[in-house]
Amino acid sequence: LLEGRTALVTGSTSGIGLAIALAFAREGAKVMLNGFGTPEAISAARAELAGIQGGETPYSAADLSRAEGVRAMCAEAEAALGRVDILVNNAGIQFVSPVEEFPEEKWDAILAINLSSNFHATKAVLPGMRARGWGRIVNVASAHGLVASPFKAAYVAAKHGVVGLTKTVAIEVARSPITCNAICPGFVRTPLAEAQVAPLAKKHGVTEEAALTDYLLEKQPSKRWVEVEEVAGMAVYLCGPNSGAVNGAALSIDGGWTAS
Ligand code: NAD
Repeated sequence: LLEGRTALVTGSTSGIGLAIALAFAREGAKVMLNGFGTPEAISAARAELAGIQGGETPYSAADLSRAEGVRAMCAEAEAALGRVDILVNNAGIQFVSPVEEFPEEKWDAILAINLSSNFHATKAVLPGMRARGWGRIVNVASAHGLVASPFKAAYVAAKHGVVGLTKTVAIEVARSPITCNAICPGFVRTPLAEAQVAPLAKKHGVTEEAALTDYLLEKQPSKRWVEVEEVAGMAVYLCGPNSGAVNGAALSIDGGWTAS
């Protein structure tokens, strides 16, 4: 479905981003990775991708908490891939705390990585997409881009911002063969979400299994994790041949969370 396309996927050394990168490569795209991790984990991700797309896997170690880092990554991608047809803004972090105690540096970091990096990357790649007359921007937002939960002030604010940015860019590109959409997952089985289970079990004095279904997935009626492959499938659809009329959407993939 993506034969001949090039794609930059941010935060793709793990979790959802890595699954999207692998799915894109399986569909024929040439993908560049970005993100942190141990040298072993990054090498393993690059090798897994190389096994599908062949050659060296382009990789940027850019820190997306800084605008210069985002711009540098986009320039690296254009140099390594020739052009960026598809941008997936996926990198993100989480921090959980009551708002009165929320550390200011965590607020700044979450807004920078989860929201501002989407703006800087979109700004950097959009001129090339316009010049070539085709492009796809996929922002990995969250169910928390549509509804709130307590103790996630920065994350919820940033993800609502991502949905707003998505809609604005979508309207601006609407007359061209470029689209900009957001994916809004519920809880997905990744390191970022799994790390929230043990503290909940401890806090409520229950097993991790009970903490998962009764507390973490309290609002997710399916009572199961969304799997990274399911999110990747939605990203492939949004970048494939039949999705050109889907623009400015915030697509839920959340086991029914935002339906209730
Ligand atoms: P993850 O922790 O597995 O992956 C996050 C990725 O972002 C990693 O590759 C990490 O290295 C990268 N990253 C973090 N800070 C960075 C920085 N400063 N610069 C560059 N890269 C950086 O998490 P995940 O669950 O796969 O999350 C991916 C996206 O999906 C995030 O935007 C997250 O908010 C969103 N999301 C996750 C869930 C979930 O339940 N897991 C649900 C909804 C939305």
